[in-house]
Amino acid sequence: FLCLLQEPTRFESQVKKWLYEWRPDSCWEPKTFQASSLLVSFSWVAWSLISSRRVDRLRSCVRHNLCKIVTSMEGDIGEQIRVAVRVRPFNAREVARQCKCCVKMEGHQTILHIDECSRSPEDGMRIFNFDNCYWSHDRSHPNYASQEVVFNDLGQLALRSAFVGYNVCLFAYGQTGSGKSFSMVGSEDDRGIVPRVAIKLFQTMEAQKQENIAFEVVTSMVEIYSEKIRDLLNPRSGSKTELKVREHPRKGPYIAGLTAMPAMNYKEIQRHLELGNRCRSIASTHMNDVSSRAHTIFSINFSQTSLEKLESGLTRETKKVSLINMVDLAGSERQSSKQLSTMEYARFKEGVAINKSLSALANCIFALYK
Ligand code: ADP
Ligand code: MG
Repeated sequence: FLCLLQEPTRFESQVKKWLYEWRPDSCWEPKTFQASSLLVSFSWVAWSLISSRRVDRLRSCVRHNLCKIVTSMEGDIGEQIRVAVRVRPFNAREVARQCKCCVKMEGHQTILHIDECSRSPEDGMRIFNFDNCYWSHDRSHPNYASQEVVFNDLGQLALRSAFVGYNVCLFAYGQTGSGKSFSMVGSEDDRGIVPRVAIKLFQTMEAQKQENIAFEVVTSMVEIYSEKIRDLLNPRSGSKTELKVREHPRKGPYIAGLTAMPAMNYKEIQRHLELGNRCRSIASTHMNDVSSRAHTIFSINFSQTSLEKLESGLTRETKKVSLINMVDLAGSERQSSKQLSTMEYARFKEGVAINKSLSALANCIFALYK
């Protein structure tokens, strides 16, 4: 029935497949395919003319059931988007000012005790709900949420979805110095989500290795700096070369001319990350000395091709492709209206571009939420 809903031009090849599967040993003549597909088309047209209303109902019923399958595979619609929050330790500035931590986390709740700094007495406590709350304020505390804890929830979920064949996007959002790069990339001895996802990806591929399944991993890395896209895996392209976003009729938006580097193991991904990080635009801000002023996107294009031998002796190739996008966003900042020096003005312009793109992102998230 689903095949009949497809375009009429596909009928013939579909009928051919059915006939072969039904009687693989018979020598089917091309005329038989044409005759059978004509017959199928005629009966389809006749049937739809007689009961067009019923067809409409059936078609919507099929669509409805398909939607259900998709959502039940991934859980509720709400589960397809997850929002997690993480609290970092005080930085040197906050320690020097003897700041007090006013954030508490209990299960899925983040509780802000703002009575100390609040002007109105009724503003004592604010409660926010998130899918995951990670309390990483004090490393020596037994409840400290380590990089591993964060990866086990968010990174593993992303990987599971990628193996099923879904596209995944994971991004860190927050003010400059709030711990985005730490959570996404981390350091050599305390790796963040990006390297952990890459390591686990190759480990899972190794564990699922079979003769008839081929895996392919291709990486790319870009940064969006002052509204311009730069290829970080092609340093020769220089800062002047700006990549363009184009719309593909089937795949959707993509970056034209982007370098895609294949990776056979984690070491190669690590090399790509190092190469990309060397080309990033880094400038110092008041909050964070090595803060990035650009959004950085590390993408892993992961494909799984499986070959299946049919009873007829033919082989069927199935390919699942999923794109894992991991984004370390530039920090949002408050702009000052005071008189600026030339240097400050350049930083101000960067800040405007960052805030503009973050507002666009907020609009996208709001549209998805609706
Ligand atoms: P952002 O990328 O949001 O500007 P960073 O990730 O660079 O901020 O974090 C700022 C500082 O805070 C860094 O020195 C980082 O090591 C530290 N930091 C952030 N999050 C944590 C954490 N969860 N545990 C320990 N240190 C952290
Ligand atoms: Mg950063």
